[in-house]
Amino acid sequence: MANLLSDPHSHAGRSPARVQHLALDLVVDFDARTLHGRATWQLANPGTAPELVLDSRNLDLEAVAQLDAAGTATPAAFALGPADATLGQALTIALAPGTVAVQIAYRTRPAAAALQWLQPGQTAGTAPFLFTQSQAILARTWLPCPDSPGIRFTYEATVQVPPHLLALMSAENPQRLASDGRYRFRMAQPIPAYLMALAVGDLQFAALSGRTGIYAEPASLAAAVHEFVDLDAMVAAAEQLYGPYAWERYDLLVLPPSFPFGGMENPCLTFVTPTIITGDRSLTSLVAHELAHSWSGNLVTNATWNDFWLN
Ligand SMILES: [Zn+2]
Repeated sequence: MANLLSDPHSHAGRSPARVQHLALDLVVDFDARTLHGRATWQLANPGTAPELVLDSRNLDLEAVAQLDAAGTATPAAFALGPADATLGQALTIALAPGTVAVQIAYRTRPAAAALQWLQPGQTAGTAPFLFTQSQAILARTWLPCPDSPGIRFTYEATVQVPPHLLALMSAENPQRLASDGRYRFRMAQPIPAYLMALAVGDLQFAALSGRTGIYAEPASLAAAVHEFVDLDAMVAAAEQLYGPYAWERYDLLVLPPSFPFGGMENPCLTFVTPTIITGDRSLTSLVAHELAHSWSGNLVTNATWNDFWLN
């Protein structure tokens, strides 16, 4: 096991309590440019540790509770450590005997570094758009979490968005709009916090094969489907090189033009820039790069960002 104490970019390595599963319940508020809700962390070693230490940065904490095995919540004592502009603050939560989970009610701030709130004019359509970019240490700006690549957890989430918008995560995803704007997600394989991802917008889905497809704004979808028609063949070719694809579906989310990266290898759902849609499929090698992270990076991960070259 890695010596997590040696991660210089996270406070969580010194946590005597470890987490194993996250239940996230968030409301996406485009007017206030905030996410608010609750993060419930199930402990991997309940009853054996006096406190849980998580990373946080510019989060407004509203309440912290501890849950016992019967699900009864009681307020938990917590403290935020000294603020560092890059690393944020350690969130230390005291655990009473019998605590199996902690629940943090919180709110993000409009300037949260991981959250990109786009106005309609910054998209290909007429609706606002939100996407996250958690890598390398920005997950802590939208989720109180152990934000070290050496620490993994499974997650489930419920996300409430305006009813005409679709929400997607690095997880099993919906393929059509929910009339009430409420979406549920499940990631059954343990992932590090930097692979937590959320996108919300006027998005539609088109299947390419039984396990691959494209999410894009309606104005971009047809061109994206044409561009990435070989996606399933890419997955099959990668499997020939590296072994079975471990994440069930491989879908692409084509982001609005203002997406500042080429791509981000969020599990199950790579985020890609629309600037690789040329009409002649000449830049789709970017997708091969992101797809390769399904093995190198997402399955086998550097323990700390000092070893990013391994990714
Ligand atoms: Zn890469």
